[in-house]
Amino acid sequence: MEQPDPPLVRLGQGDFIQDFPAGRTSPSDGDGAAKAVLTFSAINTFRNCPRKYKHRYLDHLQPHERPESLSFGSVIHEALELWYGLTGDTNRLWTVLEFIDAQFPQREHDAVQKQRWHLARAMLVGYAQRYPTEDFAVVEVEKTFTGEIRNPDTNRPSQTFVMAGKADGIVRLDGELYLLEHKTAGSIDANYLDKLWTDTQIALYCFYLRQNGYPIVGVLYNVLLKTRLRQHAGETQEEYEARRAELAAKNKSGRSTAQRKLPETDEEFQGRLAEWYAKPEAFHRERIYLSEDRLAMLQDEVWEVTQQYLDARRRGKWLLNTSNCFAYERPCEYLPYCQSGFNPNVRDNLFVIAPPHEELATAPTGDAEPAF
Ligand code: SF4
Repeated sequence: MEQPDPPLVRLGQGDFIQDFPAGRTSPSDGDGAAKAVLTFSAINTFRNCPRKYKHRYLDHLQPHERPESLSFGSVIHEALELWYGLTGDTNRLWTVLEFIDAQFPQREHDAVQKQRWHLARAMLVGYAQRYPTEDFAVVEVEKTFTGEIRNPDTNRPSQTFVMAGKADGIVRLDGELYLLEHKTAGSIDANYLDKLWTDTQIALYCFYLRQNGYPIVGVLYNVLLKTRLRQHAGETQEEYEARRAELAAKNKSGRSTAQRKLPETDEEFQGRLAEWYAKPEAFHRERIYLSEDRLAMLQDEVWEVTQQYLDARRRGKWLLNTSNCFAYERPCEYLPYCQSGFNPNVRDNLFVIAPPHEELATAPTGDAEPAF
């Protein structure tokens, strides 16, 4: 049974609240009562670690520096959104490249930005060459949606929450509708493809898009690989002299004709990247069909998480799930804060206050992590 919902006193402060997307400015249950918007990211965060949920969605703490993969993934998602939004425009690649240039304004002074800029450009140029035309028709790009969260026992909608999200795209392929999902990945192997089956976020999105009038039958994963190539920095004078001395010592004449290695120019590096992105494995498409049983199970899960959330909020208990601190092979961004026992100095030094629910304002990251 659904627990009785406590009154939402401060709808503007945390508690899954978000400006309502997709043309609805005041989600309601039909009699005017506003409901809080629940996004997949919020559900997922709460399920993985309730304390992390509190940091992110109630206290609005965000690290000063976002992890590189998140920022890069967001740029690629937005570039692909532009690409498909401009289908039929013969200048669309130039528009996309201009967009990428604008995302890395400090690239001449910042080595990290420079590397990301090179990679993003090469990735999208390679993508345009790989897919000059598509075997699908684009139906929607960056489609926002909302839907009811229902009690699986009574089928009654939650009085507290509605679900919201944004899908990368909807396409028509072989006469049927598919959700288009962009991913950037470090590698694609059998494990990676198997993991796609566990992509709970996308299954949920399909469920809600069906409710919104799109009879989605499956997901078309559009995977773009991130190369590990790096621009050669060249040798310093000291490095060159050390190498030359070493070579000379091995030579009977005691001399070496070695030349100093110069830094790789942008054009040379783009040339190497272009070769890499011309390889067949640089891009991958995977079509996956939806299982009706799985969709039904997901609905139950979402309902259960909302009930656990309501219980945590009522009791003010936000448990630390320490088994999640090093998930995805990197430390949780809140680790120093949790380790410090929630020291306010650590909080103020390492985090800024920023509103949650980015996926409704910008493209989701699409990085190669398990969604749930
Ligand atoms: S560091 Fe661990 S306990 Fe703290 S928020 Fe992150 S996952 Fe939760």
